[in-house]
Amino acid sequence: MVTLSELHKYGTRKFIMPGTAACPGCPLLIGMRHLAMALDGKFAMVIPAGCSSVIPGTAPYTAYSVPVLHVPFASSPAVASGLVRAIRQRGNEGPVVVWAGDGATADIGFATLSGAAYRNEDILYIMADNEAYMNTGIQASGTTPWKAWTTTSPRGKTEDRKDVALIMLMHKVPYVATASIAYPMDFIDKVRRAMQVRGFRFIHLHAPCPPGWKMDDSYTIRAARLAVETGAWILWEYNQGKLTISPPSIPYKDKSRRKPLEEYLKIQGRFAHLKPEDIKLLEQKIDEQWEFILRLAELFK
Ligand code: SF4
Repeated sequence: MVTLSELHKYGTRKFIMPGTAACPGCPLLIGMRHLAMALDGKFAMVIPAGCSSVIPGTAPYTAYSVPVLHVPFASSPAVASGLVRAIRQRGNEGPVVVWAGDGATADIGFATLSGAAYRNEDILYIMADNEAYMNTGIQASGTTPWKAWTTTSPRGKTEDRKDVALIMLMHKVPYVATASIAYPMDFIDKVRRAMQVRGFRFIHLHAPCPPGWKMDDSYTIRAARLAVETGAWILWEYNQGKLTISPPSIPYKDKSRRKPLEEYLKIQGRFAHLKPEDIKLLEQKIDEQWEFILRLAELFK
C-alpha cells in the first residue's frame, strides 16, 4: 500500500508543469498527478478530445511530462492497442494508459473501448468521469446522473447514468475498479495492482468538475468525498475473479452510517431544482446500486 511519506516524496516532483489551461479546482489535474505518482511518471498516455487535451496548452508546448498521443474522440482504445503492440514488439514492457473523459468513453468511443476490452489488449484505461461534456459547454453524457442539469438537459436529465465499469466487467476483462480523486491512496494502489495484471484493465475515476457541477472552485475534493460518504459513489475493485468493496466505502455498506444525500446535492447547483420526491428516488437508486454491487461481491468472492 502506498504510504503518506511516499506521497510527500512524489509531491515535490513535477509530473505536470505549472501554467496549465485547467480551470481552478480542476479534478483532472488532481487525478492525473496521482496516476503519475502511481507509475513514477514512466508511462505513455493516449488522450482523446476533451478537457485533458486542452489543459496542457498549445503545441509545441505541453504541461505534461510524459509522452502523450492526442487522438480523435472515438479512437483512443484503438490507438492504444496499436501503440502497445508496437512497443511490445520492440521489447518494451512500459505501460500504455488511456486517459479519457466520460463522453469519449461511455458514448463516442464506446465501440472502440468495447473492442479493445473484447480483445483483452494490454492497456490501462482510465475514465476520468466529470459526468458531462465539460469543455464543449456542459452537454449531458451517458454518465450524467439522473435529474442533473446540463445545457442539453435544462430541466434535469431524464435517463439514468450508464454504469461503464459494470459493462466492462461483463467483458470478462481481468481488472475493473472504481476510484475517486478524493481518495488518492486507494486510487494509486488500484493503478499499481492493475499494472501487475496483464490484459485490459479499466478504472472509473469519479472527478467532480466545479464549473460543470455549478459549485465553488474549492469544493472539488469535498464533493468527491461526499459522494462516497453518502453512498452515491461506491468504491469497489474486481481483480481476476474477486470483487471487493474498497476500504473507504466499507463503512457505507451499512446505510445508517451514510451521510444524508442532501449534503452532497446541496453544494451542486446542477441539482438545485430537485424536489424532495426526486431526492427520495435518487436515494432509492443508490440503495439499489449498493444491493447490486454487494450481490456481485458475494458472487465473485
Ligand atoms: S471544465 Fe471541469 S474538468 Fe474541464 S478543465 Fe474545467 S474544471 Fe477541469
